[in-house]
Amino acid sequence: MLPFLDRRFGNPSGLYAAGRDAQSAVDEARRTVAGCIGARPPEVIFTSGGTESINSALQGIGYAMRRAGAGNHVITTAVEHHAGLHAAQYLEEQGFAVTYVGCDGHGRVQLAEFEAALRPETVLASVMLANNEVGTIQPVREIGALLHEHARSQHHRVMLHSDAVQAPGWLALDVDDLGVDAMSFSSHKFGGPKGSGVLYLRRATPFRQLLHGGGQEMQKRAGTENVAGIAGTAAALEIACRDIDERGRRVRALRERLRAGILARVPGALVNGCQENCLPNNLNVSFADLESEVLVAGLDRRGIAASSGSACSNSTWEPSHVLMAMGVPIRQAVGSVRFSLGESTTEADIDAVLDVIRDEVEAAQVASTAAAGA
Ligand code: PLP
Repeated sequence: MLPFLDRRFGNPSGLYAAGRDAQSAVDEARRTVAGCIGARPPEVIFTSGGTESINSALQGIGYAMRRAGAGNHVITTAVEHHAGLHAAQYLEEQGFAVTYVGCDGHGRVQLAEFEAALRPETVLASVMLANNEVGTIQPVREIGALLHEHARSQHHRVMLHSDAVQAPGWLALDVDDLGVDAMSFSSHKFGGPKGSGVLYLRRATPFRQLLHGGGQEMQKRAGTENVAGIAGTAAALEIACRDIDERGRRVRALRERLRAGILARVPGALVNGCQENCLPNNLNVSFADLESEVLVAGLDRRGIAASSGSACSNSTWEPSHVLMAMGVPIRQAVGSVRFSLGESTTEADIDAVLDVIRDEVEAAQVASTAAAGA
């Protein structure tokens, strides 16, 4: 990325040498990203991140399909990231009908429920590839096959978008194999820069651009390109897509060490989400009788960065919508903490968490009880 922040500072729209140089870097990055996901380069659109890609896919395809008279019904799931959920709610405000299909106790969408939601006027389905809170992998390939089957009896095909933000580095991403028409990525989830992302859009997919302006990104995303971000995105994705089996095995073993260690040390701890068919790097655990933010703050004081699924609004703890959709009891949901492992996580890191987890849970239980009584 560094050369594009100083020496090679041209604007890709410039016709002069520095501009052509920047354009060739963007073109090369587009070829690299396309190669990683089995796409053709013009099907790769660089964006400002996962949120923009997801909003562009839902609104862009939704509006274009509706304008073509194909219908106004969208199917998504109750466990999408807020970028997907809130974009779907916005479509409802714009007159679309949206069905939010549920999931089983492991967070996995049921094909039968998805199929039952299909209507003649369905134009778009959006199902994440892997969940960011519990790591559950969704049956996107099976849904793609089902939609192709459904198309035989319809005048139009239902377009399929997948939020694949959590997938790079862990799952294979071939767009033909998955049967998706659009797919969203966020660079910082695979070692690239924050504020950069990718929207894959299959050739000939009906699409109305979200950002209007210049003709950049094949007229699908106006605005001067973030050349350094794009170069970083391509380099990081190329690395992330290498050796996913080996990386997965190594990180899964570490995750299992963390899981077994926590369950052995902390009475009442429960793992949320799937045990199989899930990302290797994610562990979501509920601890009894505490609010997760209190535990996350205690772990932070020890230099351990974990995250909590619940959010505080109006002085009450809002449990995670994902855990709620899975049918996790509310007391269990407010005490849930997510540990994310990465490429660089070591056994020593895991053991550092295990050394303190019991003490921190007990301290958080005392603090949470005191706060509830206050
Ligand atoms: N989708 C999923 C599954 C995510 O985990 C995230 C970010 O955490 C997003 C979308 C949004 O990505 P960004 O914050 O890069 O816009």
